[in-house]
Amino acid sequence: MAHDFDLFVIGAGSGGVRAARMSAAYGAKVAVAEERYLGGTCVNVGCIPKKLFVYGSHFGEDLEDAQAYGWTSGSKSFNWDVLRSNKDHEIDRLNGVYRNLLESNGVAIFESHAEIVDPHTIKVGSTEVTAENILVATGSWPTVPDMFGKEHVVTSNEMFNLDTLPNKAVVIGGGYIAIEFAGILHGLGVETTMLYRRSLFLRGFDLQVREFVRDELKAKGINVVFNAPVVAVHQLNGATQVETSSGEMHAADLVLSATGRAPLTGACGLERVGVELNGNGAIVVDDQYRSNVPNIFALGDVIDRKQLTPVAIKEAMCLSANLFDGQRSNMSYDDIPTAVFCQPNIGTVGPTEEEARERYSRLRVYESIFRPLKHTVSHRKERSYMKLLVDEDSDRVVAAHMVGSDAGETIQGLGVAIKAGATKKQFDQTVGIHPTAAEEFVTMRDPVR
Ligand code: FAD
Repeated sequence: MAHDFDLFVIGAGSGGVRAARMSAAYGAKVAVAEERYLGGTCVNVGCIPKKLFVYGSHFGEDLEDAQAYGWTSGSKSFNWDVLRSNKDHEIDRLNGVYRNLLESNGVAIFESHAEIVDPHTIKVGSTEVTAENILVATGSWPTVPDMFGKEHVVTSNEMFNLDTLPNKAVVIGGGYIAIEFAGILHGLGVETTMLYRRSLFLRGFDLQVREFVRDELKAKGINVVFNAPVVAVHQLNGATQVETSSGEMHAADLVLSATGRAPLTGACGLERVGVELNGNGAIVVDDQYRSNVPNIFALGDVIDRKQLTPVAIKEAMCLSANLFDGQRSNMSYDDIPTAVFCQPNIGTVGPTEEEARERYSRLRVYESIFRPLKHTVSHRKERSYMKLLVDEDSDRVVAAHMVGSDAGETIQGLGVAIKAGATKKQFDQTVGIHPTAAEEFVTMRDPVR
């Protein structure tokens, strides 16, 4: 029986949009359903507005540094409404770009909730349509710990549309989203405390990177408190107090819980057709993104492999090519470069030193810590950190880690070199660009370990 569509995509986020438009470009008849906002998390409440806020929050330091370079400005002040509404304009523009991308490729857009009725039928809004294949690209959603007073906290979703900026904020969590928001709030002049239940944040990142970032955040004036599990949030006479397990109280006008995200699988009919989920609630798929129901696929945050936009996009490109272009391409999850937009930024590709020691019996570690040239004049105390890991046996550079200004920009290029299997000798043969911070990566000569 002919279906209405070759592919019906649930969710027009990073993965869903790319899968829809690539599949349509290969000639498939495609529809996409979106219940909230075109572009999904990344465009509306993730990467893009977050990075705009990071830029916004850094200008405070830039204005101070400018004085050492001879610039004087009037008294420094910040207007939250201006930043928020300029951000909104840019998001509106991007929503339009995503709509155009879909429409110009002939993708039918349903702006409503979709749920699977049977393996070939989807209820979207008040109508039902049929499809040969269904792609679930519904993303993920912030989770809030089950604690007393949890109704008094906000999540990253609400951070982008606060009516007013608080004077004092508590950020709960130790992942990259918590750290980025702590930096944003602090940079915008908010007295900021981070509470994290373990002894050091950014689990999964290189230990020295984590320690370096901890020291830099503290030096900037963020109150970073470890071993401080939050047990309750109290609201007393209009004032909020965050209580940790030791009984310590932290006063705040705003409490952000950035303690994790869960795959968004409820309310889209998966249980009706028996799609298998793993223990974390993520959809189980094979290396072609196929679930246990043969014509239902899933990718992006909802399969919980790496919750990053470029990963969702790459997965979508593999899926479309495999379904509609007769290819059999697989995505490699090795050496995915990534950045954290804390201040200073983290950029990283390849295993941590601890992981690399398990993989390579003889590891050479190169390291550099320095004050960036810009701050020799501004006298800002911020430092940069760089690390290269080299497998002694093959001379291959297996990882590069950096904390410093625009670290993601530097690491993206090194990601290509590492993916291509570059050796330390080739790094040494590469001429540096002077004067940059990035040149350190080709001038580190003596291993420290
Ligand atoms: P999403 O982009 O979340 O899209 C899913 C879409 O499905 C949503 O629009 C949702 O409304 C829709 N939907 C869900 N259920 C239904 C339904 N039943 N019917 C219709 N529509 C439905 N990644 C990076 O690479 N770099 C970053 O700097 C970065 N920063 C981030 C900062 C924050 C604060 C957050 C929260 C995330 C950040 N991410 C970042 C992660 C990135 O946003 C996600 O990995 C990415 O958006 C995942 O894409 P996706 O397509 O899987 O899901």
